[in-house]
Amino acid sequence: MKKNLYVLAAMAAMALAGVEALAQRTYLHCGQLIDGVKNQPQTEMTVVIEGNQVVGVQKGYSSPAAGAKVIDLKNKTVLPGFMDMHVHFESETKPNAIAEAISLNKGTVAFRSANYAERTLLAGFTTVRDLGGSGVNVQLRDAINQGLVKGPRMLVVRKGISATGGHMDPTNGYRADFQGDPGPAEGVANGPDECRKAVRYQYKNGADLIKIASTGGVLSVAKDGSAPQFSEEELRAIVETARDLGLKVAVHAHGAEGMKRAVRAGVTSVEHGTLMDEETMALMKKHGTWYVPTLTAGKSVADSAKIKGYYPALVTPKALAIGPQLQGTFAKAYKKGVKIAFGTDAGVFMHGKNAKEFEYMVEAGMSPLEAIKAATVSAAELIGMSDKLGTVEKGKFADLVAVTGNPLQDIKVLQQVSFVMKDGVVYKQ
Ligand SMILES: [Zn+2]
Repeated sequence: MKKNLYVLAAMAAMALAGVEALAQRTYLHCGQLIDGVKNQPQTEMTVVIEGNQVVGVQKGYSSPAAGAKVIDLKNKTVLPGFMDMHVHFESETKPNAIAEAISLNKGTVAFRSANYAERTLLAGFTTVRDLGGSGVNVQLRDAINQGLVKGPRMLVVRKGISATGGHMDPTNGYRADFQGDPGPAEGVANGPDECRKAVRYQYKNGADLIKIASTGGVLSVAKDGSAPQFSEEELRAIVETARDLGLKVAVHAHGAEGMKRAVRAGVTSVEHGTLMDEETMALMKKHGTWYVPTLTAGKSVADSAKIKGYYPALVTPKALAIGPQLQGTFAKAYKKGVKIAFGTDAGVFMHGKNAKEFEYMVEAGMSPLEAIKAATVSAAELIGMSDKLGTVEKGKFADLVAVTGNPLQDIKVLQQVSFVMKDGVVYKQ
């Protein structure tokens, strides 16, 4: 069902882009191809695209049939479209953000989010998971699928779920008479019954997956950034309900206890994972839990916290204490063999700068090819779409990017993407 929707969405996007017939073939002549499968780049390759699919990958520069289009990328390295497993399209970092939380109308949030989505696509990210907003993210996904807005293919959480006063309680930091008492519909749940209801509410309103906070967080206006916030019973209720609905669960966590509870309850991915200990790493390996590190967020919140007045007084010490630890944890988890998928937390820093994460991953000891795989093959596996995404192979969606230079020698070249194709449509050339 979902795949058919994607095909329809691609056709709509192509109509918008003025592509006339699905049968038209495009030949990409690639100087170098990193296909996500082989461990070595291949030189002088042709990728043949029809509609929104790759229909062939050939050695040498194939001559196209009459009427077919050729795109010359002979001086480029072509890769699968990048996939960021953790973005927030409804917001972007700025000083004193809490003022906007209560003053912005949804229309403003929507127009801004469209801009952030386009910026992200043009940076080479053809698929993202939006891990939490107010619900505008669901409509943004639909507008992109309908070809009304340019952006990546989106899997959307809608609104994250946490306990009262927890990391994603939307009224944290509000004065008491503005808070009300948010419940499951607002993503606030206490006790297994409310947890089940909160999951079902997100599902009913268009969520593709569920996001929860099992520990405190850095940017929420609350004192503790790492202590557990859901009981294991609550976490099990969430995961079991989500599983019944065919939804995966991503958990925001900084402290080890909240992480362990969530991993034992069966979540799909741990986001941030800052204070992950060896026991948690072993538990994640045992359960096959993914780790989405968001190193760029850790670095950027620590930087912003040094600017006086940028964050509320409760947030600044957490950002300074937690942010700088993330890259060290990532290095350890990587060495331990925890499964890693690329994710940045874009929104916490500027949208479109997502590829900086590659540099931080390599800086921490990952090979450039593994970092690329984390953002392609592994990310596709995490979202359960390996049959359609993550590599350049016959039968996959035509999501491709190109850069000048060799990213295996200099990972920074991925920050300057010069060609972007999503679903067979060229967005940047
Ligand atoms: Zn986030």
